[in-house]
Amino acid sequence: MNSKRIFLSLSQQSGYEQEYIQRALKSNWITSGGPNVDEFENKLRNYFDNENFITASNSGTSAIHLALILLDVKADDEVICQSMTFSASANPILYQNACPIFVDSEVETWNICPEYLETAIKDRIKKGKKPKAIIAVHLYGMPYRIDEVHSIADKYGIPIIEDSAEALGSSYKGKKCGSFGTFGILSFNGNKIITTSSGGALISSSKSFKEKAIFYATQSKDSAVHYQHSEVGYNYRMSNICAAIGLGQIKNLEDNIRFRRDNHLFYRETFKNIKKVQLFNNPSDDFFSNYWLNTILLETEEERESLRLAFEEANIESRPLWKPMHLQPLFEKYPYYGGKIAEKLFQKGLCLPSGSNLTDKDKNRIKEVIINFFRGI
Ligand SMILES: *Cc1c(COP(=O)(O)O)cnc(C)c1O
Repeated sequence: MNSKRIFLSLSQQSGYEQEYIQRALKSNWITSGGPNVDEFENKLRNYFDNENFITASNSGTSAIHLALILLDVKADDEVICQSMTFSASANPILYQNACPIFVDSEVETWNICPEYLETAIKDRIKKGKKPKAIIAVHLYGMPYRIDEVHSIADKYGIPIIEDSAEALGSSYKGKKCGSFGTFGILSFNGNKIITTSSGGALISSSKSFKEKAIFYATQSKDSAVHYQHSEVGYNYRMSNICAAIGLGQIKNLEDNIRFRRDNHLFYRETFKNIKKVQLFNNPSDDFFSNYWLNTILLETEEERESLRLAFEEANIESRPLWKPMHLQPLFEKYPYYGGKIAEKLFQKGLCLPSGSNLTDKDKNRIKEVIINFFRGI
């Protein structure tokens, strides 16, 4: 095994990162917040057509936590969350000592199922508590069923936090993911569409939400000349150096999305004649996925695992899909509404290398493993 490892999801540098980092170092603004953070927020705001307010944070997880705080989620409140997701979607519910209520996926988008969502809301109300918020996720960059999910949320007057960590550049009916909910969040972790090494953003529709988010993210300082606090504060603001990396990265945003979508075309071609494999793709023209990760469904869990090992043998990283939250030791005691859709996806699904830095040579190596594997069975 002498070839270099192909990773699941790496972003590539634009070449401008150094320049922005140097500028930040020279200005001696080496702390959280600062001119690069403001500029990075403005660039993102432009990207979202200047209709939203952006608060840069030190991670996507902290952005979700801030959204819950701003929605006044407190101890023993209930928050609905898509079960099929990364744990970072659900952990902040526990930070608030609130109770997560998990909901299954539906088969076309793999995201929160509108029917089970409504069942869950009705049942929680019947049991005495209306959920305070809904966390819906655009998994692997695929928009969830926005029209259906939002109309149910509106019917019961429950705000939505749109976990768009994996979906920067995705859209639904031409509108960008992250801009539909009361809050949206982005992640700039190293494996996402663009990276700031670690970082995130809270997207909101009002300036006052942004001001409040900054207040909580910078230790809840009351206005006084001394340090005065009447509320719990957090150290959640993005650092000026991380924002410098972000300014370099954002120059590559459109390219990175194009490279990810090109990877999808490569997989579509590769799997064209392999009938037992289902490549995950847009269910209709309303959906525009950035194809953050390309994912496939195999016929059985055993087959999925053998393919994963075949990739590993060739020094190529691939991974099972997210293990649903309701099956996690940490979360299994919380209520769950649904059947076995998310569980089946977890058993049979595999994420394939999809970084924006994949070369033609990498793709040839990936293709060779796939062709050999399916020739053999
Ligand atoms: C990455 C990710 C997050 C968290 O983002 P961090 O920046 O790593 O904290 C949240 N939700 C989903 C679905 C993610 O993939």
